[in-house]
Amino acid sequence: MNRPDTVYDRVILDGRVMDPESSLDTVSNIGLLDGQIAALTTQALRGRDTVDARGLIVAPGFIDLHDHGQTPETYRLRSLDGVTTTLELELGTSDVAAWYRERSAGERINYGVSIGHIKVRMSVMNDAGSFMPVGDGAYRTASPEQIAEIVRLMELGLREGAISIGAGFPYTPAATREELLAVFRVAATSKTPIHLHITPGSAGLKEALLLAGETNAPLQVVHINSSSLAETPVMLEMISDARAHGRDVTTEAYPYAAGMTEIQSATIQDVYGSASDERLGELEWPRTGERLNRESFARYTRIGGPIVVHTNTEQMVAAALTSPLTIVASDAYWQNGAGHPRTTGTFSKVLGRYVREARSLSLMEAIRKMTLMPAQRLEARVPAMRQKGRLRVGADADITIFDAASVLDRSTYREPSLSPVGIEHVIVNGVSVVANARAVEGVTPGKPVRAPT
Ligand SMILES: [Zn+2]
Repeated sequence: MNRPDTVYDRVILDGRVMDPESSLDTVSNIGLLDGQIAALTTQALRGRDTVDARGLIVAPGFIDLHDHGQTPETYRLRSLDGVTTTLELELGTSDVAAWYRERSAGERINYGVSIGHIKVRMSVMNDAGSFMPVGDGAYRTASPEQIAEIVRLMELGLREGAISIGAGFPYTPAATREELLAVFRVAATSKTPIHLHITPGSAGLKEALLLAGETNAPLQVVHINSSSLAETPVMLEMISDARAHGRDVTTEAYPYAAGMTEIQSATIQDVYGSASDERLGELEWPRTGERLNRESFARYTRIGGPIVVHTNTEQMVAAALTSPLTIVASDAYWQNGAGHPRTTGTFSKVLGRYVREARSLSLMEAIRKMTLMPAQRLEARVPAMRQKGRLRVGADADITIFDAASVLDRSTYREPSLSPVGIEHVIVNGVSVVANARAVEGVTPGKPVRAPT
């Protein structure tokens, strides 16, 4: 395959190439041609452009199944954390065709979206919220005609190439079991995974597993860390049991003990609307770092904006993240120039803190959770994902090159936009978007990831 006279578009030389599919872990050279990996060899390669990867890890580009950013600003932040494909699969969108059209001029990294029950319900129920439901989309029961319209729009989204189906029960508390069953039936009929933010706790997981079992829908339980908290071990066991019984159930986690969501959303208002001052102290207003009380909760609810939710422990986060069941997915959250540090630090934090410092994951396991596992989750519906998440000849040239000895997140709740250190080069479809740990400006090699239409 590697003819000595070939001059590649770009060569990556002398890096430690790690591929979780083949378990390859050796110093090799890679040649890129027309956006694909065209050579992977220990022989010398020539290219028009050279990346010196000596002393660095060469891994498949990181794939994120859960990203609420989806703007040029966040695509840039995500690329600096090694992400080459980022997908909004939980909230999703209500208009799949428009969502892809808005990005068709090109983006920095690969992107994609689900058809989202939350967003479709907002549209059908005429909810006034811009990001999440704040009125009838959350709190009003849908009529049989409205449920039929929700189903029709979701099926339309799938025909338009939605990657999966998104849903979040705490954001739509008025949705009846009948409505949820209708949504799960859409997933089952089309064999599309439903990426679900469950009602928190083991009862919520049981509810989701029953809905999936009754309809035979594939299920991805999103951010098991923030949905399980102290129940993390038992809920991981429930997923493991379901899988042992042949059920198509998978899950994901992000490496932070605090979550973030919109203060005006039902999931915050229903839990904290009449909570004690002590309970309200779990909430942090990120712009000032202050913990909330009754007065400030009411005041910031009127203003609206992201809120930090301190409800988990580092021990439970580690239990979620190091389980062989979990995919790493950031739940990146970013609005108006601010958001959660997981937007910029998820992948570098796993590599720096869990692999190098705590040694609670091997490097290959961590790479598998960031690349091969998310690609495999989507392959049945999106065959193009078979060319991502691996390093082999014929795969897409989405590649992340990092220094295992120094990689580390730097972003914090107060300074969430600080980019990590140690993510040295990021290549998307053969084009450098990060070089020497700096963003390359003005490049848009990212392509849509979409189910066949
Ligand atoms: Zn969520």
